[in-house]
Amino acid sequence: MALYRTEAVVLRTRNLGEADKILTLFTENRGKVRAVARGSRRPRNHLMGSSQPFVHGSFMIFRGKNLDSVSQASIIDPMVYLREDLLKMAHASYIVELVDLLTEEYDPNSGLFTLITSVLGQMRTSGMEARLLKFFELHLLRLTGIEPQLACCVGCGVTVVPEGNGNSLGFSAREGGVLCTDCRRQRTDALPFSLGALQVMRWLANADGDRLGILQIPTAIEMEMEQLLRGFIDFHLQRPLKSLEFLHTIRG
Ligand SMILES: [Zn+2]
Repeated sequence: MALYRTEAVVLRTRNLGEADKILTLFTENRGKVRAVARGSRRPRNHLMGSSQPFVHGSFMIFRGKNLDSVSQASIIDPMVYLREDLLKMAHASYIVELVDLLTEEYDPNSGLFTLITSVLGQMRTSGMEARLLKFFELHLLRLTGIEPQLACCVGCGVTVVPEGNGNSLGFSAREGGVLCTDCRRQRTDALPFSLGALQVMRWLANADGDRLGILQIPTAIEMEMEQLLRGFIDFHLQRPLKSLEFLHTIRG
C-alpha cells in the first residue's frame, strides 16, 4: 500500500532545501518513520502546524522509492505546553531523542507509541517530571528489549530478595543490572545499589503512569536512580545525548 494513514508523534524535524522539512515520526503501527513535509516552512502551508516537534497528529503518508512524504496531516494534540516552558521542552527533547536513538525505522512498537503519548501528555500538568522521566526510561528500555535486570543477580543468577541479600548490593551497567553482595565484592566497576532504590525501580518498572503520584521517593533515592540509569543508558548508546546538555543547562 503506497498511501497510509497513521497517528504519530513528531520526534524531530530537520530543514530540507528552501521550504521543506524532514520529519522523524513515531507512528502508532509502523514504528519510526521519516517523511518529508513539503512546503511546511512556508507561512499558511497546510502542513506547517503539524510539522513541529512533539505534535501528536494523524498523518497521511505516501511511501516513496527513496523518501516517504506527508500528503495530509491533522493535529490531535499540538503539545503547545512543551514548547512554551523551557524545562518541559528540555525533558520532552530528552524523551524524543532517546526514542530516536533506541529504535530502528519501520520496526512496529505500539506499546512504545502509547508510552510516548502518555508521558508527553502527563507533562501538561505533572509536577513530577523527575520520576516521570525515570518511569519513561525504565519502560522504554523494556519495550526496546534492553531493560536492566532487577530481579536476579546478573553475576550468579540468584534471586535478589532485598531483605535476604544484605545491604550492599551493586549495579553493573556493563553486565546489565543488579549484583548480589557476593558478586559485587568481586567487581571494581559496580556502583553501590541501595535497597530503597532497587525497590523503587522495581515498582516504577511495573507501575501504571497515572499512579506515580502515590509514591513518596526520597531525594537521595531519586538521585541514585538518576545516576544508575544514566550510566546504564549511556553504556547502551555509546554516544552523548544532545538534549542532556540542554537539560543540565536549564536545571542549572
Ligand atoms: Zn551474585
